[in-house]
Amino acid sequence: MLKQSEYQALVKEALSYYEKAHIVLTDEEKARIEVAEFDLGRVREVGLELLTYINTDRVCAKEMVLFPGQTCPEHWHVPTGGQEGKEETFRCRYGKVYLYVEGEGKREDIHGKIPSTPVTVFHEVILQAGEQYTIYPGTKHWFQGGDAGAVISEFS
Ligand code: ZN
Repeated sequence: MLKQSEYQALVKEALSYYEKAHIVLTDEEKARIEVAEFDLGRVREVGLELLTYINTDRVCAKEMVLFPGQTCPEHWHVPTGGQEGKEETFRCRYGKVYLYVEGEGKREDIHGKIPSTPVTVFHEVILQAGEQYTIYPGTKHWFQGGDAGAVISEFS
């Protein structure tokens, strides 16, 4: 569990990335940036900073920050309540993202760092600012910020 002061410091750092990406946020939005640490207690290695613009039954849009080398653990989106699992499009706005999805690719060949959380998919997609990739429902994926971190828009 992050202390309030640590949480606020991470939010402040995330704000500096949104600025670098020239993403303009209102004060109300800045105040509700979330830090996800996935209950692991090593947020700089495994974590994610995010702002949710909208999240309804039909549409979701988020602006995520990954610090350098920070990783969002492997997961996939299963169908829920009669709806298909979600389809996610990631668009890199700043920096570089190492994204790994199911498909060809070996653990030893990737350019990102293997995280301490379990990962099983190694098809590498490197997104630079202005590039995007769509992950279809049920596809396992994990992703990591490059050397300068990353800002990523999610549409799902
Ligand atoms: Zn996902």
